[in-house]
Amino acid sequence: MKKLSCLIAICLILPFILVGCGKAQENLTTYKIAGVYDENSHTLTCTQEVEYVNNSDNSLSCVKFFLYPNSFKEVAVSSAHLERAYPNGESFGNINFTSIMADGSECEYSVSDEGNILTVQIDEIFPEESVSIFLEYVVTLANINHRLGYGENTINFGNFYPIACVYENGFVENDFASNGDPFYSDIANYEVSLTFNEKYTLATSGEVTSEKLENGKKEVKIKGEKLRDFCFVLSDNFEMISNEINGVKVNYYYYDDDNATQNLETACLALSTFSDLFGEYPYKELNIVKTNFCFGGMEYPNLVYISDAVTDLETYEYVIVHEIAHQWWYSVVGNNEFSEAWLDESLTEYSTLLFYEKTGRGDYASMTSGALNSYRLFVEVYEGVRGDVDESMNRNLSSFSTEPEYVNCVYTKGVLLFDSLRAMLGDNKFFKCLENYFDDYAFKNSSSAKLIESFSKTARMDLEGYFNSWLNGTVKLSD
Ligand SMILES: [Zn+2]
Repeated sequence: MKKLSCLIAICLILPFILVGCGKAQENLTTYKIAGVYDENSHTLTCTQEVEYVNNSDNSLSCVKFFLYPNSFKEVAVSSAHLERAYPNGESFGNINFTSIMADGSECEYSVSDEGNILTVQIDEIFPEESVSIFLEYVVTLANINHRLGYGENTINFGNFYPIACVYENGFVENDFASNGDPFYSDIANYEVSLTFNEKYTLATSGEVTSEKLENGKKEVKIKGEKLRDFCFVLSDNFEMISNEINGVKVNYYYYDDDNATQNLETACLALSTFSDLFGEYPYKELNIVKTNFCFGGMEYPNLVYISDAVTDLETYEYVIVHEIAHQWWYSVVGNNEFSEAWLDESLTEYSTLLFYEKTGRGDYASMTSGALNSYRLFVEVYEGVRGDVDESMNRNLSSFSTEPEYVNCVYTKGVLLFDSLRAMLGDNKFFKCLENYFDDYAFKNSSSAKLIESFSKTARMDLEGYFNSWLNGTVKLSD
């Protein structure tokens, strides 16, 4: 926010820079999506125009998209989560294309064997040039309590549309993963129109700009600027309460919750605490959404899922805080969540502890020593059972062999890494590192190397060896 208002001020004073500002906005890819949801067939029929901007240094003759809906062509969770994910038995979903065009002409396209990547062939575009890609498709939802799927109370539309893969030295093609979030995308602008039965209440990323009722259907138009992704949830059971904090409207969509007011207060407090610690939340709305979801929670820009399977209040509150921290680490500061999951998850989990410390709602020292104990227990058990344990943090989602290994190496050890770094740098330097890192990479993509460089610059100390010893598993935390 600070950065934006500063830019606007400069633009008003110097008209020629106004052109520059406009250009910066135009350089973002734009998604224009119109979707119609049919609750009988559980399908979302969409047209999607992507004004794709080539922000790479290379010319491109294709654009690749990640197709998350196809991860539901097979059972999408590990056996431990089967019952919670599929309470009515196995169910499947996918995405099917009916037409694809580039710059107004039919074009060649292909979907990878695994179903994760769509490749659209285009006439070559040079750096800073753009291409208009038109996609027409039907998403079929599985009956699953997951990011995308319909459950008893909510219909979840996380990652429902083809999203452009990030271009690094080529398009980054992530696999599906049942552990963790296999996502990586650039900041973009969104114009979305959704049509659905009027009985549903909508919770969405972005801001609703108009709503009309016709023949028992609601048509809602939404605008989202500078978002990393776009998500919405429908429910015919939602109640909603709101509050405003720091000029941000915080909405809590829920069902069956006697502690709704308290949960909304927690969300507001998390938003203000993280804004104070890292930098202002740069959007006008934040939606906390109770959902049918088989894990604890899930983060999207302006919108977080909190699972209705979390039944005790303390854990529910913890999940709210964790998912809101992701608005800083994942949503505004992006990273490849498949190849470097530790980057956003460790920071987010550590930020959650900072919330409890700064608000006095929890005891920081006992939370960090609890993390150390549970990490040691994990190492002891795995060494006992398997003979050795891979303690490295910086690896891709598919190389964690079990969920406890993923959770302990990424979340728990992540807390210990940042706690230890804070003790080494002192509070002043450490919190300045977080603030500067947020400022350096807001609306951009980070990486392990970029975080280390940013922290080293602020701390005026080469932290590469320090971070690497934690990330590659050299640091041992046993007694
Ligand atoms: Zn998380």
